[in-house]
Amino acid sequence: MHTLYWFTRDLRLHDNAALLAASRSDALLCLYVVDPQWFRMGAMQSKAMGSHRWRFLWQSLMALERNLRAMGQRLHIAFDNPASVIPELVKAHGIGRVVRSRLPGTVEGDQWRALKDALPETAFQQFETLSLFPESALPMPLNELPVTFSQFRKQIEKKSDTNTDLLRIRTLTALPPAPGFPDDNRGECPAIDEPVHPLRFIGGEEAGLDQLQDYLFTNHHIDRYKETRNALDDWDSSSKLSPWLANGSLSAREVAARIAEYEHTVTRNDSTYWLWFELLWREYFHWYALKHGANLFRRDGVQRKRQQATFYGHRFKAWCEGNTEYPLVNAAMNQLRETGYISNRARQIVASCLVNELELDWRYGAAWFEQQLIDYDVASNYGNWQYVAGVGADPRGGRHFNLEKQARQFDPCGTFVDRWEGESDQPVGNHTVDAADWPL
Ligand SMILES: Cc1cc2nc3c(=O)[nH]c(=O)nc-3n(C[C@H](O)[C@H](O)[C@H](O)COP(=O)(O)OP(=O)(O)OC[C@H]3O[C@@H](n4cnc5c(N)ncnc54)[C@H](O)[C@@H]3O)c2cc1C
Repeated sequence: MHTLYWFTRDLRLHDNAALLAASRSDALLCLYVVDPQWFRMGAMQSKAMGSHRWRFLWQSLMALERNLRAMGQRLHIAFDNPASVIPELVKAHGIGRVVRSRLPGTVEGDQWRALKDALPETAFQQFETLSLFPESALPMPLNELPVTFSQFRKQIEKKSDTNTDLLRIRTLTALPPAPGFPDDNRGECPAIDEPVHPLRFIGGEEAGLDQLQDYLFTNHHIDRYKETRNALDDWDSSSKLSPWLANGSLSAREVAARIAEYEHTVTRNDSTYWLWFELLWREYFHWYALKHGANLFRRDGVQRKRQQATFYGHRFKAWCEGNTEYPLVNAAMNQLRETGYISNRARQIVASCLVNELELDWRYGAAWFEQQLIDYDVASNYGNWQYVAGVGADPRGGRHFNLEKQARQFDPCGTFVDRWEGESDQPVGNHTVDAADWPL
């Protein structure tokens, strides 16, 4: 059997159940598809892929290719629509089976269904590699996923067989040969922009595993995670694992297993527990996205809560450009634009501002994050935005952060606002309405 393995958000050889299954073949074609659609403007005034994540993704692909080459394999990088390139490759290389990871997101689901329809003679298999647990190990059927995170967490923690270490897949050390090495058209992919600020996020499996090792065993920053995680701008205050987790260079189960190892061999405290707790948030939103499908992107959310319908283009533009009346928000938005990363606290603050002070449709904010974030993850992004907007998993009906209080508490000396130049000379007030200000 010849298999095509479609790498998506699983850019790794460790703990990869899908690649392991695909490796049981006579010949294996490893494919990554860069979709030109990602770089075009979408309906929400943003692109699906911005320059920071594109750079990180490219680095991740190069690292993956190096690892595959060490096993005599190669990565075929196609700059094309999956609906065209996959059928072409299947026909050209006598492929009998297409394998990939199971992905949340409606586009991803639609693509998979369309390929199955287009290739009725080909076997299609998906495996769960993004989550801590496979669906079969969840303590409830997916359609009964609790409406709040707390209920989900309690049920997971009550279940005795949630040892993620036992679910880990061994790192692959051998792969079958490729059915020839067709030329790819990677050269047509968009150019990579150099960042304005030197960034510490370098894509690839080794870099992700190194960051995990550093945060836990080398520097022991995990020991104080619960106290430091709300800092606005400090590399060591949180794990910074999200970009590697988001594109699957790092497995969530690997992170959970290393936390458990740390607790057994070094120390166990509230902070070590809290890092696991945050991984459970990610897990919750993963299943939430799969459960709710297209409702993840509805303005009225999974709660079907009516929202006001006006849209102020000038306010959205000011928010994106860090030019609102709120210096703290501006600083965070500047940091996001220039680096592709902001802390969880900063994400909550700017999201709350967009929804509450600027009275904008949360989906525009989510789409801007999708373009800008180096760690964009469809489930965590849209799940968190719904939560802040009060149309998702929050039993309290949304979050409205007091921006002055947040500034006093998290930036008492104004260091963050200074560093990211949050004081705007001519901020755009909420009252200004000018059609010429429409963002794009
Ligand atoms: C409006 C909004 C949008 C967000 N969009 C994304 C996104 O697109 N991609 C993304 O990975 N995270 C997103 N988050 C969650 C969170 O802000 C980031 O995961 C976190 O800041 C990443 O930094 P870290 O790796 O140092 O996190 P740590 O604090 O070290 O946490 C460890 C890991 O736990 C997970 N995690 C932590 N907090 C959350 C959370 N609230 N929800 C889900 N998972 C969490 C992440 O995988 C993270 O890497 C969003 C949060 C908000 C409020």
